[in-house]
Amino acid sequence: MAEVSVVADDEAALPPGAPGIDLLSLHESIAGVLATQGDWRRAYHHLKSAFDLARAGSLRDTLTSSFNRRYLDQWLHGPAVEHRGPPGIAIALVDLDLFKEVNDTFGHLVGDRVLREVADLLQQGLPPEAFCARYGGEEFALVLPDVDAARAVRIADTARVRVSRHPWARIRPGLSVTISVGLAHENGTGPGYRAEPERQLRRADALLYMAKRAGRNKVAYREKESSQVIPSSANSGKSSEPTGA
Ligand code: GH3
Ligand code: MG
Ligand code: MG
Repeated sequence: MAEVSVVADDEAALPPGAPGIDLLSLHESIAGVLATQGDWRRAYHHLKSAFDLARAGSLRDTLTSSFNRRYLDQWLHGPAVEHRGPPGIAIALVDLDLFKEVNDTFGHLVGDRVLREVADLLQQGLPPEAFCARYGGEEFALVLPDVDAARAVRIADTARVRVSRHPWARIRPGLSVTISVGLAHENGTGPGYRAEPERQLRRADALLYMAKRAGRNKVAYREKESSQVIPSSANSGKSSEPTGA
């Protein structure tokens, strides 16, 4: 039987959903052929590559290629969060504004493209340890470890402005997109501190609701025991009257 050539190791680093050949199936098939040749070492190598690709893919959202809810949950309940010291950790929940209208007006395919581009925009300019995960339909979570509250607000608002200024009309004339953000920061100080990611997510969700109520295209956060919303006046992008979202 003909020798099977080994495919490069670094293929596992390719993003899931990348166009081209189905690397996972390819590794699996090659492993099968190698196994019938009795070449167990190389068969194992290819099975391991297939497994790494499958595991990486299981943590990604298929539409946007950002991390998915499973990755977020694993991370939030993993060792990275347990006993964090200052400057703390921020979680921002991001929701597209009036996105149903985008689908209704321009169709679901345009809606899908908007979601992909928003995911890309949210990932731009994040600090090295931070990440963006698709939280649900048109919601994303930004996790910002090792940032203080002021920096987290700046990062969240920069993302909001980036989305509102993106040239959406290039996709379809008349299309505009904004996001609302609820930002919850925890200082994580003290030796007895224990992170409670669910509570932090609930706080972020309540603040997101506040950003919507304030007119959308806003970042809501808490500072000195009171809630703040920026920008304080509805002055940019697609804002609208609150509908009790
Ligand atoms: P709000 O500003 O209050 O958040 O209004 P909204 O219209 O964004 O909120 P609503 O919950 O009414 O609608 C969310 C829409 O997001 C409805 C749903 O069809 C759409 N959506 C969720 N996931 C996807 C997706 O993967 N692709 C597309 N195209 N649309 C999606
Ligand atoms: Mg929503
Ligand atoms: Mg929405």
